[in-house]
Amino acid sequence: MQLVALSAFVDNYIWMLHDGARAVVVDPGEAAPVQFALDELALTLVGILVTHHHEDHIGGIDELRDRLHGPIWGPRRESIPPPYTPLDDADHIEALGLDFEVIDVPGHTAGHIAFYAAQAPDAPILFCGDTLFSCGCGRLFEGTAAQMHASLARLAALPGSTRVCCAHEYTLANLRFALAVEPGNTDLQDYAARCRDLRARGEATLPSSIALERRTNPFLRWAEPVVACSARGHGAASDDPVAVFAALRAWKNGFG
Ligand code: ZN
Ligand code: FE
Repeated sequence: MQLVALSAFVDNYIWMLHDGARAVVVDPGEAAPVQFALDELALTLVGILVTHHHEDHIGGIDELRDRLHGPIWGPRRESIPPPYTPLDDADHIEALGLDFEVIDVPGHTAGHIAFYAAQAPDAPILFCGDTLFSCGCGRLFEGTAAQMHASLARLAALPGSTRVCCAHEYTLANLRFALAVEPGNTDLQDYAARCRDLRARGEATLPSSIALERRTNPFLRWAEPVVACSARGHGAASDDPVAVFAALRAWKNGFG
């Protein structure tokens, strides 16, 4: 089983999982990168997974339908191009023989879902759309800080080995913010150096892992005294996890 990040637009990734013959893709915001990969690797597209309704995640769906031999799965509570199979929290789907659990992760959008394959070969896989980014998280377009905090807490509780497949290459910009929050975090400093090398070579920084995110992502580290202290310096009224998270999110929105 191969996990591939197809580049789309400026900084999107369309994740593709394939077994050498069949493929599924996640959030095809445009069709061309998927069509190119299917042709190049001689793969049959057997499913499309959709995390949320934003155009940069659904824009290629209709163009891919005539090559698709299988379902389109997406969030029940959002409007994505019909027809598709609507999913709720705790639903399970099977794609490429793998079981994926649906996890409700509202916050970036109201009905955002993530897909988690606990039994994937090598290590679990998480497709988390625009909820969790490496060293960052999605903006709160439709949900509250409390919702997003709860969503991120669910993802942070997954096994540390879980491969985190985010929908955007935002890692370097996120690292600059993370280092402002926690300048003394040596895991963060090491990770930043590694990511700068990867990007200088034109390579993806993803997938990340849940273990790495727990050590480096300020939006999962609301319980760390240093993080809470930084958040208090930027508007958090207390060390309450949601207050810390909300202050970090607001600070990041205006961060150069
Ligand atoms: Zn989005
Ligand atoms: Fe997006």
